[in-house]
Amino acid sequence: MNEQSIDKARRLIENSSSIVAFTGAGISVESGIPDFRSPGGIWDRYDPMIYGEYNSFLRTPEKFWTMHSELSQMVSRAQPNPAHLALAELENKYLKLKGIITQNIDYLHQRAGNTNIFGLHGSGEISRCLDCKSEFSHETVNELLEVVKVPRCPECNGLIKPDVILFNEPLPVGVFLNARDLLTRADLLIVIGSSVSVYPAASLPLLAQRIGIKIIVIDTLPTNLIDIADVFIKGKAGEIMPLLVSGLKNE
Ligand code: NAD
Ligand code: ZN
Repeated sequence: MNEQSIDKARRLIENSSSIVAFTGAGISVESGIPDFRSPGGIWDRYDPMIYGEYNSFLRTPEKFWTMHSELSQMVSRAQPNPAHLALAELENKYLKLKGIITQNIDYLHQRAGNTNIFGLHGSGEISRCLDCKSEFSHETVNELLEVVKVPRCPECNGLIKPDVILFNEPLPVGVFLNARDLLTRADLLIVIGSSVSVYPAASLPLLAQRIGIKIIVIDTLPTNLIDIADVFIKGKAGEIMPLLVSGLKNE
């Protein structure tokens, strides 16, 4: 069953010249960062709708930082897995992948070697003072966290927040519009490890379908997209992606 889907997906990739990937938390699960759906692990202890919600960050930043410190240690230990590396090959060796639209904040696509990345939900690499907008590196924030529970701006004592988009916080409009623009010029979309349930990010695969872009979906579970996908491959991203990319014909 999967063999036929894999053959079909490989043919779609070989016949495409402008591919875009849309990735979610599932692509990083094999790097050791749990998604929201998997039982066990960090999200059972920290409900993302409470610990990752914008108003609750403003009200009780210490709650957010307890969760975020644990998450950021996990992210620092994580390495790109074969799915991230296959996407890097699709861009750098085969010159077919034109960009990645990701909901992840873990920076693993950048570390794998992809270059044109639209982080719809920001990234944990940089933090910013909510008052004077000064920027702080991940390392500086970690140093502050060694002595305080809630890091504050050394310039103005304002609250510091990582540049990740929390629930009920608006998306950076420019990034979203640029991602949409990239997508409208694609001939194939590969959706990897996303439940496609967080809006407005989830509207992008639906747009792709409306304008006739072919869609491959790779996920360990059926997702909202299986009815509109040209190919759905059920399996782990780190196992499936190398099968789709290695030894492609028209290099
Ligand atoms: P999600 O948790 O809603 O869905 C993840 C999907 O990945 C699920 O459909 C699941 O079946 C699938 N999956 C799990 N393991 C997989 C694997 N090995 N291979 C392929 N698929 C696998 O995640 P989402 O759609 O990205 O949306 C939730 C939000 O979670 C996003 O806003 C994102 O910012 C945030 N988030 C990010 C990270 C990260 O940066 N790594 C981690 C957790 C949550
Ligand atoms: Zn400040």
